[in-house]
Amino acid sequence: MAGEVVVVGAGPAGLATAACLRARGVPFVVLERASAVASSWRNHYERLHLHTVKRHSALPMAPFPDEAPRYPSRDEVVAYLDAYARRFEIAPRFGELVRRIRPGEVETAARTYPARAVVVCTGYNRVPHVPAWPGELGGPVVHSSAYRNGAPYKGKRVLVVGSGNSGAEIALDLWEHGAQPTLSIRGPVHVVPREVFGIPAQITSLYLFSRLPPRVADRVSLFTLNRAVGDLSRWGIERPALGPVSQVLEKKRIPLIDVGTIDLVRQGKIAVAKDVAGFAPDEVRFVDGTARPFDAVVLATGYRTGLPDLVEGVDFDARGLPPRFGEEVARGLSFVGFRNPLTGQLRDIAAEAERVAAHIAGG
Ligand SMILES: Cc1cc2nc3c(=O)[nH]c(=O)nc-3n(C[C@H](O)[C@H](O)[C@H](O)COP(=O)(O)OP(=O)(O)OC[C@H]3O[C@@H](n4cnc5c(N)ncnc54)[C@H](O)[C@@H]3O)c2cc1C
Repeated sequence: MAGEVVVVGAGPAGLATAACLRARGVPFVVLERASAVASSWRNHYERLHLHTVKRHSALPMAPFPDEAPRYPSRDEVVAYLDAYARRFEIAPRFGELVRRIRPGEVETAARTYPARAVVVCTGYNRVPHVPAWPGELGGPVVHSSAYRNGAPYKGKRVLVVGSGNSGAEIALDLWEHGAQPTLSIRGPVHVVPREVFGIPAQITSLYLFSRLPPRVADRVSLFTLNRAVGDLSRWGIERPALGPVSQVLEKKRIPLIDVGTIDLVRQGKIAVAKDVAGFAPDEVRFVDGTARPFDAVVLATGYRTGLPDLVEGVDFDARGLPPRFGEEVARGLSFVGFRNPLTGQLRDIAAEAERVAAHIAGG
């Protein structure tokens, strides 16, 4: 097939793919809509640290620096990705918003790139997901993608909607900035401390749970969690019937990796509420019929890939995911960074980027 190798996106997945192509002597062009690499990480809330260890979060051929902590901060991740792009001489074409991708062709506002291979690296978290509820709150309602820190919320009653890692950490950040946070949790969720008895959760997943049959891994995991976390139901946090490992494999639901929120819930400093039913000017109504007054709401309600609107010629599933990862899905078209395993997405990205680059180099 004629044309260039086009990598779309200059986040970790795009940079890793580009570096692996560079190492194999394959020329490529990286198209990035933002004005710098790692734009998602630059825009994440300030308190964020990796919840995966640096050893298993590095991109191919370049470990995190020795001086970086075990769980690098947002700024350290950005500095690492900046250095990575320099080291492998990756110079994306910035301000290139890709509008349409077809096998063999990538279309931006300015031009159409004929492509012998296209690697889509636009991210699992491309489009903020904002559920629709009836009514309107008088105060601000922002998605977590627009949340930077808790300073503007000092002294305010803030509802954080969503029990993923972002929701839990934003509730913690709000409390640290003098706000009164409440966390709205839609349904049962497994809570896993970032480290259990000094061992990172990612390491346990990697070296133990991913090697055991899922039902056995669930039992071992629940045995540990009973001791490390215990029953949180009296604080409104229920455990799913399905074990933590099966939840990831069958429902694609990652547990809540706790970095301190649960202690504050136990101390009554972060309240827990049910799922949101609707808004009124001064209050939020919940599905259990209760209502509470709030000054602001942060929606940590996740993202969508937005791939079905961007890419033609691929059968995406209901969640907007391609049928395969890290390998060719249609003629010359591959995806890197769309799996969300228990063992860490960055680790997965590194492996997928190597596979895709090797395939392109050999093809
Ligand atoms: C809050 C948060 C914390 C996370 N923490 C961890 C962690 O601790 N460990 C871990 O392993 N994983 C973590 N992840 C998951 C994952 O590793 C990161 O989301 C990572 O940034 C994914 O890299 P990516 O390159 O696939 O996507 P992104 O970093 O989102 O990069 C995608 C790039 O594509 C560009 N782009 C998108 N659409 C277009 C378009 N149409 N045209 C041109 N450019 C486009 C974007 O501007 C962006 O620069 C976390 C995710 C989030 C949201």
